[in-house]
Amino acid sequence: MNYNFSISDDTIKSLKTLLSSPKRILLTTHKSPDGDAIGSSLALYHYFKSVGHDVTVSTPDDMPGFLNWMPGSDDILVYVRDKKKFKKVLDDAEIVFALDYNHFKRTGNEMEELLSSSKALKIMIDHHQEPDDFMKYKVWDVMASSTAQLIWEFIVALTGKAAIDKSIGECLYTGIMTDTGSFRFTTCTAHTLRITADLLDIGVRGDLIHQKVYDQNSIDRIQLMGHALEKIVLMPEQETAYIALSKEELIKFNYQPGDTEGLVNKVLSVKGVNVAALITQKENQIRMSLRSVGDFSVNQFARTYFNGGGHEHAAGGSLEMDLDEAIKYFEEAVKKGYK
Ligand code: 5GP
Ligand code: MN
Repeated sequence: MNYNFSISDDTIKSLKTLLSSPKRILLTTHKSPDGDAIGSSLALYHYFKSVGHDVTVSTPDDMPGFLNWMPGSDDILVYVRDKKKFKKVLDDAEIVFALDYNHFKRTGNEMEELLSSSKALKIMIDHHQEPDDFMKYKVWDVMASSTAQLIWEFIVALTGKAAIDKSIGECLYTGIMTDTGSFRFTTCTAHTLRITADLLDIGVRGDLIHQKVYDQNSIDRIQLMGHALEKIVLMPEQETAYIALSKEELIKFNYQPGDTEGLVNKVLSVKGVNVAALITQKENQIRMSLRSVGDFSVNQFARTYFNGGGHEHAAGGSLEMDLDEAIKYFEEAVKKGYK
């Protein structure tokens, strides 16, 4: 068959046996879920339902509004909205999937504790660097464009392409599109585009998905973008630029989850800038969102300074400090260099 294996033959064999009878399955993903997290989770949700498993799809917190058109999104169990139900489902689950993340801490402190002490068998499907070893099985490929691409491979390996229907296809398309910056990052290979072409062949409308995800902005969001872009701080010597947004500024523009998505890429698009950061003050912490190009890697930088991680060119983390302190801390870290 014409696809790359990110899954070893042994793993497929074991997973086929494991999943050959109906199981109680809980799907989990990371906090502040993005298009790949939701797309991967819902694709796998539809697939497992179609082959007769008892499956629950969950997120730690709310997803951005620009994803709520996705098939199955109303079925998502949001941990912060119904902790009791989540605990019950977790207690009952025979298998827990970790999708688009590789450390339980990416689900937040409370969920991390629950997942770490759960007796269920753990399976990770992910493409982030340096995975933890909590899982019994992993479908992991740091070269994969997205977790959605790995979900495609997983389903095809288990059941074949015929198992991928239009709903699954729409979810996978969304995951691949959002994680590849609309099919333009280096991670988007010929293989990625062949998978995408397969999705178009089964009737997925890429044009409509792009429109739903990127062209349904609230006026508040556009004005927040405008405000933020006015505030770019350049550090020309370090080929770096950043935007910092306080809690008050976010409230002023009626901030909703996902509203700052893509903003850091605008910072990166400034000529001469090779590293970009978005520093946002959330409830009790500072969130760092980092992007880079070329030889500049932000993965290690995020690990060293922001208790985070991610990929070479896209990483994130957090800080427990005031915004002013965080800005100073960030600038000092940048001046030390990215190695
Ligand atoms: P974003 O800037 O879009 O929030 O995140 C960019 C990348 O960094 C994503 O691949 C995400 O998984 C990773 N990332 C973001 N925040 C964290 C974090 O707190 N810890 C780790 N390990 N990775 C993160
Ligand atoms: Mn991803």
